[in-house]
Amino acid sequence: NLSDRLSATFKNLRGKGKLSPADVDGTVREIRRALLDADVNLEVVKAFTGRVRDRALGDEVSKALNPAQQVVQIVNDELITILGGQQRRLQFAKNPPTVIMLVGLQGAGKTTLAGKLAKWLASENHTPMLVAADLQRPNAVTQLQVVGAHAGVTVFAPEPGNGVGNPVRVAKDAIKYAKDKQHDIVIVDTAGRLGVDAELMRQAADIRKAVDPDEVLFVLDAMIGQDAVTTAKAFQDGVDFTGVVLSKLDGDARGGAALSVASVTGRPIIFASTGEGLDDFEPFHPDRMASRILDLGDILSLIEQAQKNFDEEEARKVAEKFATDTFTLEDFLAQMQQLKNMGSIKSMLSMLPGARGMRQQLDNFDESELTRTEAIIQSMTIQERRQPKVLNGSRRLRIARGSGTTVTEVNALVNRFEQAAKMMKTVAKGGVPQVPGMGPI
Ligand code: GDP
Ligand code: MG
Repeated sequence: NLSDRLSATFKNLRGKGKLSPADVDGTVREIRRALLDADVNLEVVKAFTGRVRDRALGDEVSKALNPAQQVVQIVNDELITILGGQQRRLQFAKNPPTVIMLVGLQGAGKTTLAGKLAKWLASENHTPMLVAADLQRPNAVTQLQVVGAHAGVTVFAPEPGNGVGNPVRVAKDAIKYAKDKQHDIVIVDTAGRLGVDAELMRQAADIRKAVDPDEVLFVLDAMIGQDAVTTAKAFQDGVDFTGVVLSKLDGDARGGAALSVASVTGRPIIFASTGEGLDDFEPFHPDRMASRILDLGDILSLIEQAQKNFDEEEARKVAEKFATDTFTLEDFLAQMQQLKNMGSIKSMLSMLPGARGMRQQLDNFDESELTRTEAIIQSMTIQERRQPKVLNGSRRLRIARGSGTTVTEVNALVNRFEQAAKMMKTVAKGGVPQVPGMGPI
């Protein structure tokens, strides 16, 4: 499923200290495929991956302590955005009753939702009433009556033989009744068809016009895949709605419907239905849904773990090299590059009042020096990188020229390397090294 695909993608990033544009492209391509396979609408996928890519190639990732984790964070942020951003609560009328109308295809879960909503609202000290305005299917009224009985709420239904076939009239009568009997919320269940059709839309639009609802909730079966977007658009054009309810999220839904519908219609997802029982229902939180899709907790800990293993493995290799005297300038360069991450540590520390001392030490670390060091090492032959001792005066001059530095700088680097190698050899043998100016570390 989508979660598994995305977490596999992020696993590939693990242990990468720095992400190249190729890494980012590869990741974005994988995310794109995973979303498309999960039935997310193509336009939504394009916009989404475009934003993720731009941000992943930007400063927030290149400066991050852990770039892979930062990419996961970006994907999470953007998921929340396409899911509607902030949680949207149900809107109540200033003058009760609040009228909530449910629309959607047959089998989407409207009648079940009516019961869930009523039970939930009753538990919040409201006095909801259900209205059977689905007069299309023979047993639809009975079904709502059963649901209402389970939820313990009043169900308004047409008298047998009276008003049958006229859901607009039933809905209007229901509002009058609710006012009389002091029901503060009226939930109108309507008919659906197996597919979108003009008559269904006209009937729903007529009911809407007659009862002027505060909320029109479009109930969408999360399992219908790519059709979700077309269906949602058809209902938006035909009746329009103020919010979306995703039903059957408990099933093997591929999740794509959920991801597409809010951004395609510009309407918020307000509730999620997660089962056949009356309590299988919750207000929809975009951030929680995003975490669920990403399995964020899992992914973050996975990456942390991978990172830790990577660092430990690296450290073990380096220690071995020191012990066996095979540490080279190339290894030295790799070590220094890891220090680049200190840039972000610096900015983190600047937010902590107690960390001034550490900050000063870090201030001594100069990134442009790292760049010069890199240039010097790259101007050396492989042989020289392995044994800088072989460097004579004329080679040092050529290296200085080739790297745009001076002989003094080349000499300083060679000296520092030899010092570091000596120091690390002491560590590898179990001793405590002294760092000039810092004392024992
Ligand atoms: P309606 O035609 O839109 O009124 O849909 P119903 O409420 O009658 O639901 C159709 C079928 O889907 C019924 O068998 C429900 O029990 C089932 N159903 C509704 N909501 C959910 C849900 O969230 N999860 C699952 N698994 N089944 C649901
Ligand atoms: Mg129904």
